[in-house]
Amino acid sequence: MPIDPTQPYDESNIFARILRGEIPSQRVYEDEHALAFHDISPLSPTHILVIPKGPYVSWDDFSANASDREIAGFIRAVGKVARDQGLVEQGYRALANVGLNSGQEVPHLHVHIFGGRPLGPMLA
Ligand code: 5GP
Repeated sequence: MPIDPTQPYDESNIFARILRGEIPSQRVYEDEHALAFHDISPLSPTHILVIPKGPYVSWDDFSANASDREIAGFIRAVGKVARDQGLVEQGYRALANVGLNSGQEVPHLHVHIFGGRPLGPMLA
């Protein structure tokens, strides 16, 4: 069920629980601003989710309300994860779903990193 990206942050969402260590995840990277872990249902050979540590529902919320430091740290983390996974030479896709038309299901901002195979047209 797609979420409403204008809703208040819900501390009980699944990624908040992963951040707090209440449920397990296969972590690949963590720093002051971001946590990255493997998607539980991968859609490509590499499918990693990168989330900010702050309580942001969506890209919309994050880009409007996070500090410049948080935003810079998070974007750097996304790039670093892709590099560390060896995805840069063959290419990869980074995307964030926002709200109803996108099908965003988890109300904590996450950037998907897809790689490891040709990814096809953007909206396929
Ligand atoms: P969305 O559709 O919101 O952009 O993507 C949510 C993603 O979170 C999906 O790709 C889904 O497989 C993943 N996901 C949902 N629950 C869990 C979980 O408990 N652990 C992990 N690692 N990924 C999850």
